[in-house]
Amino acid sequence: MEEIITRFPPSPTGHLHVGGARTALFNWLYARHMNGRFVLRIEDTDTRRSTQASVDAIFDALQWLNIDWDEGPYFQTQRFDIYKEYLNKLIDSDHAYYCTCSPDQIDVMRQQAMASGQKPRYDGSCREKGLKKTDDAVIRFKSPLTGTTVVEDLIKGNIVFQNDELDDFVICRSDGTPTYNFVVVVDDITMNINTIIRGDDHVMNTPKQLLLYRALQAPLPTFGHVPMVLGSDRSRLSKRHGAMSVTEYRDQGFLPDALVNYLVRLGWSHGDQEFFTRDELIRVFDLKNIGRSAGVFDPDKLLALNAEHIRATAPENLVAPLAPFLKDCGIEIQEDDYICNVIETLAPRSKTLEEMARAALFFYLDDIIYEEKAARKFLKAAALSPLKLLSEKLGALTTYNQENLEDVFKDVMDQTGLKLGKIAQPVRVALTGKTASPGIFEIIAILGPERVIPRLEKAIQYIEGLEG
Ligand code: GLU
Repeated sequence: MEEIITRFPPSPTGHLHVGGARTALFNWLYARHMNGRFVLRIEDTDTRRSTQASVDAIFDALQWLNIDWDEGPYFQTQRFDIYKEYLNKLIDSDHAYYCTCSPDQIDVMRQQAMASGQKPRYDGSCREKGLKKTDDAVIRFKSPLTGTTVVEDLIKGNIVFQNDELDDFVICRSDGTPTYNFVVVVDDITMNINTIIRGDDHVMNTPKQLLLYRALQAPLPTFGHVPMVLGSDRSRLSKRHGAMSVTEYRDQGFLPDALVNYLVRLGWSHGDQEFFTRDELIRVFDLKNIGRSAGVFDPDKLLALNAEHIRATAPENLVAPLAPFLKDCGIEIQEDDYICNVIETLAPRSKTLEEMARAALFFYLDDIIYEEKAARKFLKAAALSPLKLLSEKLGALTTYNQENLEDVFKDVMDQTGLKLGKIAQPVRVALTGKTASPGIFEIIAILGPERVIPRLEKAIQYIEGLEG
């Protein structure tokens, strides 16, 4: 079988968003699944709207998503010689012609067409004139005047377009810049792209592109137009539906694999399975299970999936993605047993890495700041004797584990006649500054004697200070 070659051709006019990222993913996954190739092309011919900052942002987002490319990035602005060659081919084979109609003349044609109930269109005035290139001439493609053009779409089935509705569209402007439909086709032909999966906002371009393939006698690629991603009110997805750019998800503590998982499921399914690792997606992704109905973006579902991916990731693999969030709080971490233990404890209760970093703070602070309410409620005279006893007994233990910590607490309960809760809460406030944390034995075991004893002593002094 022929090698599958797919592509992602973003226009660098802004950040990479959910819809674009999903298109990239479908093409990337299919190429990986088929052991094919994935090409990256930057469609930067609209020089007024394209920016280097957008190019950089797109690379940044793709790299974070771990979407790698085998070829490119190609930049359309560096390929004008190729486009020129193909324009000449179309002129020479009588599939295109120069047109010198002025904008005013074209306006009149359009109005006349509309007045007679037709779509605004160019009337073909210059089609048979055999005009030569002049400064004000555009190049138009000779569209067939009758018949139909059928797009055999992998997702939507056959889509039939009446040729008399496709006028002789411009493929090169008078300033010499080729137009979008033309350059896309030349690129896809010269890059040997044979599978094109893209948003269905491009469906209307496809018949024009198909005619260009035929005129250039190039084999047709397989087309699949994916329904757009919608917001909860079923209008086109935007910020107000809670959708962000790809890198904003990174900055808010999402894992790339979680976003990948979520985006792929927005329009593709594999039975009713929701959770996929990246390797699993590569193994099972195919085009026939891309759905015909639009996916509705659900930020809560994405968040839940992120939590699931956090839980499913080995702690050592979360150290690097977590590090920037702790760094923002002034804490530098490196991969060691301590952080891995912290992550293991926090993973089941963190929906994002940002949340995890906030919860991890007390493990790293030298000086615990007590939340006012927590201190008022629990760090008071009644806690003094259990805290002192615990400090003494825990100080005598060299290794902390669930079993011997339970014994120590039992001892203290016996000696003070207090229930576990009455002891655990002051200890929790002493160790974390807060009233909520992972299990008390769990955090004592992770913190270890070198952090636990000074924190207990500080709480004891704090209470004694109150009394004095
Ligand atoms: N550059 C186009 C876009 O960003 C994609 C064109 C295509 O997929 O053919 O929408």
